[in-house]
Amino acid sequence: MVRTSTHIAESQLMNKEKLDHFRSLLRAQLRQHARLVSEEQAAAIDAGDDGAKESADLALHDLAEELTLKLGERDSRMVADIDQALLRLDEGSYGICARCGEEIDERRLEALPTARYDAACQSAIEQEKGTVAHPTL
Ligand SMILES: [Zn+2]
Repeated sequence: MVRTSTHIAESQLMNKEKLDHFRSLLRAQLRQHARLVSEEQAAAIDAGDDGAKESADLALHDLAEELTLKLGERDSRMVADIDQALLRLDEGSYGICARCGEEIDERRLEALPTARYDAACQSAIEQEKGTVAHPTL
């Protein structure tokens, strides 16, 4: 039994296959950014798959932090988003809107695996900020 601190019923939570799917999407994105720094670091992301889960995730986190130092502002922000999304995957809060607690549409996550909000909240937040910095789906 998986218990979470949210009000969301177990049946609504993503199953392991889906979580693994999004994890590999996020890893692929991270790998692309790593390649901007070096092929070696891009390879390190794949190497992490073979290790024990915990140490692999820690290694990924370290790598993401290193990348944010080396990449330009735009790329480093995206790497930080990917890192946060991977952390949410581990916490079990992935795919849940951080604003309203509803599930984020899977098609939205497919297009934007780092999404923290569902489409409605994302546009509400952008309106509050008066900015269109992030594309809405
Ligand atoms: Zn929401």
